Amino acid sequence: MLIRKAAVIGAGTMGCGIATHLANAGVPCLLLDIVPEGEGERSRIASDAIGRALKSRPPSFMDPSDSSLLSAGNIEDDLEELGECDWIIEAVTEDLDVKRGIYERIAPHRRAGSIISSNTSGISLGLLTEGLDDDFRSSFLVTHFFNPPRYMYLLELVRGPDTSEEIFSAVREFAEKRLGKGVVECKDTPNFIANRIGVLCMGASCVYQEETGLSIEEIDAITGPVIGRPKTATFKLHDLVGLDVALMVMKNVYDLVPEDESRELFRAPAFFQRMVDEGKLGRKSGGGFYRKEGKEILVLDLESFEYRQAKEVSFPSLDSAREAKELPAKIQALAGGEDKASAYVWKLLSETMLYSARRVPEICDDILSVDRALRWGFNWQLGPFELWDALGVRATADRLEKEGREIPALVEELLRGGNHSFYSTAGEGAKMRPTVFVPASRELEMIEDRPGVILLDDVRMRSEPLRSNPAASVLDLGDGVLCVEFHSKMNTISGETLEMIREGVDAVEQEGCAGLVIGNQASNFSVGANIKELAAAAVEKDWKAIDRMIRDFHETVLKVRYSSIPVVGVVQGLALGGGCEIPLACDAVQAAAETYIGLVELGVGLIPAGGGTREMACRAAEAVPPGYPVDSFGFLMRYFENIAMAKTSGSAAEARQLGYLRPIDGISMNRDRALLDAKTRVLAMAAHGYRPPAPRENVKVAGEAGIAELRILLSQYAGGGFISEYDEFLAGRFAYALCGGNIDGEFPVSEQYLLELELEVFLGLLGEQKTIDRITHTLKTGKPLRN
Ligand code: NAD
Repeated sequence: MLIRKAAVIGAGTMGCGIATHLANAGVPCLLLDIVPEGEGERSRIASDAIGRALKSRPPSFMDPSDSSLLSAGNIEDDLEELGECDWIIEAVTEDLDVKRGIYERIAPHRRAGSIISSNTSGISLGLLTEGLDDDFRSSFLVTHFFNPPRYMYLLELVRGPDTSEEIFSAVREFAEKRLGKGVVECKDTPNFIANRIGVLCMGASCVYQEETGLSIEEIDAITGPVIGRPKTATFKLHDLVGLDVALMVMKNVYDLVPEDESRELFRAPAFFQRMVDEGKLGRKSGGGFYRKEGKEILVLDLESFEYRQAKEVSFPSLDSAREAKELPAKIQALAGGEDKASAYVWKLLSETMLYSARRVPEICDDILSVDRALRWGFNWQLGPFELWDALGVRATADRLEKEGREIPALVEELLRGGNHSFYSTAGEGAKMRPTVFVPASRELEMIEDRPGVILLDDVRMRSEPLRSNPAASVLDLGDGVLCVEFHSKMNTISGETLEMIREGVDAVEQEGCAGLVIGNQASNFSVGANIKELAAAAVEKDWKAIDRMIRDFHETVLKVRYSSIPVVGVVQGLALGGGCEIPLACDAVQAAAETYIGLVELGVGLIPAGGGTREMACRAAEAVPPGYPVDSFGFLMRYFENIAMAKTSGSAAEARQLGYLRPIDGISMNRDRALLDAKTRVLAMAAHGYRPPAPRENVKVAGEAGIAELRILLSQYAGGGFISEYDEFLAGRFAYALCGGNIDGEFPVSEQYLLELELEVFLGLLGEQKTIDRITHTLKTGKPLRN
């Protein structure tokens, strides 16, 4: 089934976000809402929504020019156009009658067999489609997107008894491949999986505040990253979502689950209601649990209901959790202590684990879907059953029994079968596979691979790395493709990383493999070169060591480019500085759609010297094929501006416009599919008779004239107060290296010459105190210093 054009009905928060994301995926989409009362443009609601989406932060569009794929309409004048749409998504107000009213209105206009879905967060599919005709019911499903649709990975799908298999699989495949979503299938139960459990947890965390009397900042300190949850933890999340919205969501679930044994936890405590009544709604109202005053962030004291300064949080259990290295050990330390923090965390986690275990098979038949839904929809690092494993199923059950709490049947069955965890592995060596407890069979069964996805965790489980050092390893992806995976802290690039890349290339050549992928599956590909090492060497005036580091980098990028084998880089998240220069050197790049890539070295007082300056000079020169009467200086100027301003792309699509990605580089909408897409690319390149590029011996550079021109641009920036004096100096040095130094641009230069030039400028800058200040500041604060 082809999905070539879509329509979204309801241009509110979700409808507009979904339509925008369809445009991100290149799908033309009609966005309809009601006709507003009074005079004026009849499709104003939808067109205003598109206008707001163009200004939203974080941006809803990956490339704003894709907004041309959206057309605004209204539900009275434009229904006929629905006949051209392959998929109609309803995202109107959460009200059964309103939604059914829409279905009745669109039924005569939609094409038989076209897909129709609702974005409802809780209304049962059975109720939505009751009494509608056969074709409508067989074409209908729930597609529950999370807010904001561009950024949230989870998409919950729910089918009814009549939903056609063809329609369901078509949406699933389209959502995974084109929209880049992680799909979880749910049963038709109130609020599906992620919100049922996630919202319980939101409610419980407020109820337990009342019971334990811990302060807002204390609870946030013990329910964030230390237990594998996002930094927004508990109350910062409420402030972000909006307390009125959170209250409504909790109430919705409460009303829908009269039989639920934990139902009272969905009822927010008195302080929550009081905050909503007083308009303390969170960020959107200027304050909720926290309030920003000037530069200070104040916190609400729940006793006095006044804002006050936040206090340092320390508990013995929290302190030992902070010291533990791995997440399970952190959680064990925090939940297993004797203080108030421990009591709170144990209450919260044990309730989450028990509640989830009691919900299977009510909300879905398998436990993997529950864990994925919470990981993908709430950004938890561990889903509820992974939490059971982290705390130990046996130990947890014993503790619960001691407290007189009932052990869910699912857990009893697992333990009775002699198993100690919900997840395990089976088989040996290359045949080893991850397994999961299957409630129906009461056995651990093999976890099926997701189509299009290779997980490096699985690769590492099945085979030892071919080579490895503390910063990176060479893994075998099968079919003759090897992978260099970084695994240093934040994937910073050091000499060891570079060494492993070279070894990866050697391994492919020696073993007669097809080619190499350079990639990892961390949230960020790499935050850049290890500037701590660099700054230390600069302070010691160990110029030799720095010279060696840069030459190492050069040797590596040249080897990647000119080896006899195809090398494809896979990037996702941040790919900065040196972390951008590595993919720039690859024969091709496969970028996840959410890639934030850039040469940001000027921010730390340096220039790109891992081959990045030379690469951009060459790319500008090569942008115009020989013989065309067009000057390539425009390209050089654009690259210069990007790098002088330390610009990072807001998406892979934007990286193309900035020139960090080329037209030949691929984009995978789904981050989890990027690695297999890259592997496929390597195999295709090898199969088509890969030949390495010819050495760049005659690069036409801009020379003295180019430097002069770029300097004029810089003095305009400085004159306008856009850049500091030191920025101007740095950008001037960068212009010098990018243009090939003080030479006549008529004479081409070699790539090696350009590399020497970037090295020379780089070494010079490390001798500048202001550069050292920039590096030190960034290392301390994570932010650039504009001195
Ligand atoms: P919203 O209030 O922001 O938008 C609803 C839109 O529907 C409004 O623009 C309204 O004018 C329009 N509308 C109402 N009646 C209509 C009709 N008869 N014809 C055409 N348009 C009509 O709501 P929302 O937050 O975008 O939620 C939409 C749906 O998505 C709901 O079912 C909600 O439960 C679900 N949902 C919301 C979220 C979220 O975080 N907001 C997340 C997942 C799912």
